[in-house]
Amino acid sequence: MADATPSGPVSDEAFRTICGEIVAAARDEGPFDGVLLNLHGAMVAEHHDDGEGAVLGALREVLGPGVPIAATLDLHANVTDEMARLADILVSYRTYPHVDLYEVGTEAADLLARAMAGEIRPHTCVARGAMIFALDHGRTTAPGPMLEVLDLAARAKAANPAILSISINAGFSRADIEQCGPSAVIVSDGDAPALREIAADLVDAMWQRRHQQTVQTIDIGQAMRRIARRAPGAKPTVIADFADNPGGGGYGDATGLLGALIEADIPGTVFATMFDPHVASQCHHAGVGATLSAELGGKIDPALGAPLAVTGRVERLTDGRLIYDGPRGKGISIEMGPSAVLAIGNVRVVLASRRFQALDRQFFLHAGIDPAAQAVVAVKSAQHFHAAFGPISSEVLVVDAGAGLTSDDLRKLSYNKVRRPVFPLDLD
Ligand SMILES: [Zn+2]
Repeated sequence: MADATPSGPVSDEAFRTICGEIVAAARDEGPFDGVLLNLHGAMVAEHHDDGEGAVLGALREVLGPGVPIAATLDLHANVTDEMARLADILVSYRTYPHVDLYEVGTEAADLLARAMAGEIRPHTCVARGAMIFALDHGRTTAPGPMLEVLDLAARAKAANPAILSISINAGFSRADIEQCGPSAVIVSDGDAPALREIAADLVDAMWQRRHQQTVQTIDIGQAMRRIARRAPGAKPTVIADFADNPGGGGYGDATGLLGALIEADIPGTVFATMFDPHVASQCHHAGVGATLSAELGGKIDPALGAPLAVTGRVERLTDGRLIYDGPRGKGISIEMGPSAVLAIGNVRVVLASRRFQALDRQFFLHAGIDPAAQAVVAVKSAQHFHAAFGPISSEVLVVDAGAGLTSDDLRKLSYNKVRRPVFPLDLD
């Protein structure tokens, strides 16, 4: 098992090592009656634009055509024709925040077991349209396009006994590959042209809803005015640093929102996490209680928010190890490396030595901060934070600081390999 916070392409060495272990196990430890994989679906590697397609291809080569392969995918998967051809069963999460990992794993395993028993002959097809973005990022926290299209999919499945499973993928818009974007995936018992039409109809439903959004991001100034009006003693105002979400590939050290919060200096403000191994290390050397002046954040690309000149008190040091206890990924353990809490005026910042999306309360709790007892809780996350922080909030603000790799305007990014024309780059 291996995973990574989204970033640049997977190095060729990492790909060959990890894929090589999987393929070697399939070759040397078999024979196998079936294979169940837990993939993401939007991997881009240095030598493979379609990372998962390459994994499936290598596996298929050693397993032969007769062994059924099932894979679970993230709903942000870019499902390629190759993936659908090589796998017998593909099932994606249907929630964002992704809180149905267990259910989707069970669904894929059940289908695989039936295929292994010879009860079904699963076949997977995929359809996508002229868009790299739709479905409101796949959000399922409010009525909107994702829930509507999932509902259409559920009805299509109920009306057609040959359909075993339908997945609706929002895709990962920031991957510069030819087959990037939203897709509909149908797993059926046997193949039939009518199923491709159903998949195409679902893609059509996505296209019609491509402009619909359930969240309006606000800028930093609007956010600060909203915070200034918050009722004393209310549950926390939760602020998402949308434009610098490590879960979407953001560097995690953009300083725009943090700088504004430090300036506002509201008692009971906490922030997780700033990716800054250098300042985290400075804190560890200085020790708890020390006062420290540092250039915080903004180191990877200062154009996305220059480093902040800050002076703060080292409040706590941690080894950065924590175990999620929220609805999204409960039980998963992560290691952020040497971490620290730096108190800058009234703002306490959790510093980390590795990049993570702050989607669980443990990013604060592991460092001795109870987010529920704060006034303002800021997290670098776009949507996953809702699962853990929504229930403890009085208000949720999604702030697009403008600068940051995951800011909402895809037209600001350069694409070279995506099929053209597509929405929203060329088509409206
Ligand atoms: Zn996802």
